Amino acid sequence: MAGCAASIALARKGRRVTLIEREAAPRHKVCGEFLSGEALDDLRLLGIDVASLGAVPIDHVRLSAAKRAAEAPLPFPAASLTRKALDTALIAEAIHAGVRVERGRSVQALSRTESGMWQATLNDGATREAPTVFLATGKHDLRGYARPEDPQRWVAFKMYFRLAPAQAAELAHASELMLYPGGYGGIQPVEGGIANLCSVVQQKYLARAGNRWESFLAKMQQDCPHLAMRLAGAEPLLAKPIAVTHIPYGYIRATTEKGLYCIGDQAAVIPSFTGDGISIALHTARCAVAAYLAAESAPLFQASLRTALLAQMRLAGLAADGLNNSFARAVLPFCLRVWPGVMRVTAKLTRVAQNAGVAPIQLPAEI
Ligand SMILES: Cc1cc2nc3c(=O)[nH]c(=O)nc-3n(C[C@H](O)[C@H](O)[C@H](O)COP(=O)(O)OP(=O)(O)OC[C@H]3O[C@@H](n4cnc5c(N)ncnc54)[C@H](O)[C@@H]3O)c2cc1C
Repeated sequence: MAGCAASIALARKGRRVTLIEREAAPRHKVCGEFLSGEALDDLRLLGIDVASLGAVPIDHVRLSAAKRAAEAPLPFPAASLTRKALDTALIAEAIHAGVRVERGRSVQALSRTESGMWQATLNDGATREAPTVFLATGKHDLRGYARPEDPQRWVAFKMYFRLAPAQAAELAHASELMLYPGGYGGIQPVEGGIANLCSVVQQKYLARAGNRWESFLAKMQQDCPHLAMRLAGAEPLLAKPIAVTHIPYGYIRATTEKGLYCIGDQAAVIPSFTGDGISIALHTARCAVAAYLAAESAPLFQASLRTALLAQMRLAGLAADGLNNSFARAVLPFCLRVWPGVMRVTAKLTRVAQNAGVAPIQLPAEI
């Protein structure tokens, strides 16, 4: 997401960009696939029309916990689209913009040459050199650039379902969020008439369900009858769920090296429940490109980005922690009143100064 966004913006400014993506083709990723108004704005700027890709408009949110549920309109336009479809469109746009895309090759290491260039060593031993690197490996850390451990040991799952017709009609244009002991989850429609169930849970709670998806799914439904109702008669569409671990929620990178701009989840990891990581990925990419074009050094950029995101990250963290406890589950209707407001505020706070004050400068030829 962030890597494509940055490379498209740079290529459109005439820079020579190579995008190295380890997957040979877009695939399903663990993600709730909720696109906030902010994310939609950024995608539009990149030339991505999510409606033409079949995105489902989302206009309200339902929050449920134990036997309670409440509903509120979303304070901004939103949509839902599979990451596979979105990533496919972004890669196509990058190629169209003139980015040299190398797919199915992963960067194993980043180092400095004697002449001060960055050197990326690929999985087949080949190397690529450039004066500037945008590090956008998402949840996956490069050796030497690892983010801290995730103390809560989150595990996230995603599974697609074909819901029973009556349940699909009920879900329609809603994003439904569930709170349960040790985590939270969301179900929402995506293109193709199917629904995405995405959930995160702390490892210790997963262990209580025998570390098995089937038992965990059953436990979620037991703790959250609303989910049990939605999934009654539903058909799972993947042979097994997609899973990911090591999600250092709340992390913000404070420092970096000269010529190395860290963006997306490599810059900041906002709690999925209250924040919107795709928007942050696109936003940090846009800010990094603006900083680069303005000849702002990477360390200065990273420090300013951290300052700009700090309040939002703290707010999102507090909201996620606040909602994920038994008291919050008990006072759910109040939580629901607060939650869209929190989303609106966090979305607004994501908007840090954009391309303001960019001065014309001499640019290096290759990135
Ligand atoms: C459970 C969960 C639910 C979420 N739900 C939502 C949601 O509903 N809405 C939302 O806005 N955000 C959501 N997010 C957050 C969102 O998914 C991320 O913040 C966003 O994808 C980050 O974008 P990115 O570009 O940093 O990373 P990614 O989109 O993950 O892209 C990283 C890319 O780098 C590639 N890569 C990795 N390592 C290498 C390597 N060594 N060499 C070459 N390529 C490499 C990967 O293949 C991948 O394509 C959720 C996150 C989680 C964990």
